[in-house]
Amino acid sequence: MIKPTAVAQKKAGKILDRILEEGYLIISLKMVHLCKRDAEAFYSIHKDRPFFAELTSYMSSGPIIAAILQKNNAVDDYRTLIGSTNPADAAEGTIRKLYGTDLGKNAVHGSDSDENAEVECSFFFSGMEKMKWK
Ligand code: UDP
Ligand code: MG
Repeated sequence: MIKPTAVAQKKAGKILDRILEEGYLIISLKMVHLCKRDAEAFYSIHKDRPFFAELTSYMSSGPIIAAILQKNNAVDDYRTLIGSTNPADAAEGTIRKLYGTDLGKNAVHGSDSDENAEVECSFFFSGMEKMKWK
């Protein structure tokens, strides 16, 4: 996902261009404005964390862009590409360093495992929209 602040700041094109340059294929792509309940469902893994209310309010504060990306070793490589959760700690040149504002407004989301990627892709996209490139 490209998070609300990055979308509002018109950074989505640059972020998607970088992702493509790094060798990812975009399988599916959509812009949606999540309601609070949608955000709570998406981030249910964090429901007991102290930042859950703030995170889900923020993620439902404006449109986000959701994408399914395909690449070998995509989960690990994408997390390297986006950088640490807090943009202040992220390596130079990473997406979160370049486009993130703070820990909450850190420009992009990334799945943390193949298993969670499958769940998260299914949250946004139907089976037809999850076709892989050959
Ligand atoms: N987050 C936050 N406060 C925290 C930790 C996380 O606002 O103390 C937000 C942050 O935007 C992060 C999201 O919650 O991207 C999900 O947290 P996670 O630990 O899964 O980080 P990520 O996988 O996004 O790097
Ligand atoms: Mg995470």
